[in-house]
Amino acid sequence: MKQAPYDVVIVGAGITGLALGLALHQGGLRVRVLEHAPLARFVPEPGFDSRIYALSRSSQAFLQQVGGWEQQDASRLQPILGMEIWGDRQGRLQFGAAQHSHRAGSPRAAPQAQGTIVEAGAMLEGLLRVMRVEAPDLVQVPETVLAVEHEPAGLLLRLQRGAPLRCALLVAADGVGSPVRAHMGVSATFKAYDHQALVANYRTSGPHGGLARQWFSAGEVLALLPLPGNHVSLVWSARKAHARRLLEKTPAQRMAAIEGVIGPSVEAGPEALAAPQLLEELTTPQGFDLRLMRPDTLVLPRFALVGDAAHGVHPMAGQGLNLGLQDAATLATVLLHRGWGPDCGDWSLLRRYARARQEPIALMQGLTDGLYRLFDSEQWGLPLWRNWGMNRVNQWGWLKNRLMAHANTGSQ
Ligand SMILES: Cc1cc2nc3c(=O)[nH]c(=O)nc-3n(C[C@H](O)[C@H](O)[C@H](O)COP(=O)(O)OP(=O)(O)OC[C@H]3O[C@@H](n4cnc5c(N)ncnc54)[C@H](O)[C@@H]3O)c2cc1C
Repeated sequence: MKQAPYDVVIVGAGITGLALGLALHQGGLRVRVLEHAPLARFVPEPGFDSRIYALSRSSQAFLQQVGGWEQQDASRLQPILGMEIWGDRQGRLQFGAAQHSHRAGSPRAAPQAQGTIVEAGAMLEGLLRVMRVEAPDLVQVPETVLAVEHEPAGLLLRLQRGAPLRCALLVAADGVGSPVRAHMGVSATFKAYDHQALVANYRTSGPHGGLARQWFSAGEVLALLPLPGNHVSLVWSARKAHARRLLEKTPAQRMAAIEGVIGPSVEAGPEALAAPQLLEELTTPQGFDLRLMRPDTLVLPRFALVGDAAHGVHPMAGQGLNLGLQDAATLATVLLHRGWGPDCGDWSLLRRYARARQEPIALMQGLTDGLYRLFDSEQWGLPLWRNWGMNRVNQWGWLKNRLMAHANTGSQ
């Protein structure tokens, strides 16, 4: 039977699609990545990229494996040493360095990083740098798939600009709206959240101690994530009408609004670790609409979904890209260890990939959607119960360790 010229064609050269493309190329497969937008070069600025990601240790390991991590400027990476989460009625959860920081005098080892903050543009640029050296022809741009035909030995992809391509497996890594997913007939359920995420960077009055801080307040979630030096990144998932008003404010008014949310919780307990004060807004705030997206399936014969094309999650847990990179790492492992028999589009391989990813994805979507609904409701008694629950979880070391392990590995 005639072999398809490409083992795998990936649509979408975001971080997920590029990292998967590199991993498969490095494993000896014939791979092509199609991207419809120009590949912009990232030029670092003193104030840091306003799109930043909190990446888990397993995401870091995968990016190290493909070479993108080594391309990062270490002085612009920020380890997350701990987390502190505030409820809306004095509920509180602490992880890592945050839970030790109040026990003055008790000897303790240097805290282990729970994850690392990276700049979105710098990570993409790092992967592109690896590509330029190792596989200059990996990405075909600007290009996209217009039609897909099934043939006996694979798929025939008709492209917008170039000649048709044949492949054993087509992978959609083209984001949450995924045109390729729709084109292949996979339907998806969308639920729009009444939240818009505002992101911007700030200079602070003092050190943040490497702590990621998060406040649940009035049905909204405000996070201040540490950046190198005295800088933090704001991710404020605010109700849409409120978000619009926040975007219209002056930087000083916005900083006052932020302090208005974090101030009361910081003063709530005598042992509270104060978040540093915001001094200056460094980047113009951007707003992102948020939605939950669940496709009917992760795989079809000769077709697989990865990254945001496979799942839309609320960013309150900072796990969207982490899930996507674990999709890519899992699919790469399945394809590269398939042995001599099946080609990359083999149905049993794709089902193995889907089985491995279904549960971690469902768990993260369930957790973030559940928290959104839990803190969205003011039903009688609920605010007290949810804050009581947070304080109980805070006392259960084993449960917190399991939650951290899950966030870091994406496994059970
Ligand atoms: C406010 C906010 C904060 C977040 N914070 C975190 C965090 O801290 N940690 C974390 O893990 N995640 C976080 N996320 C989630 C993260 O941003 C996404 O999960 C991640 O960017 C998805 O990457 P991707 O490569 O799968 O998709 P995308 O980044 O959407 O890339 C898709 C690519 O496909 C291309 N494309 C689209 N359509 C086509 C087509 N028809 N043909 C060819 N190419 C196409 C696009 O141009 C793009 O290059 C956050 C999200 C938001 C909104």
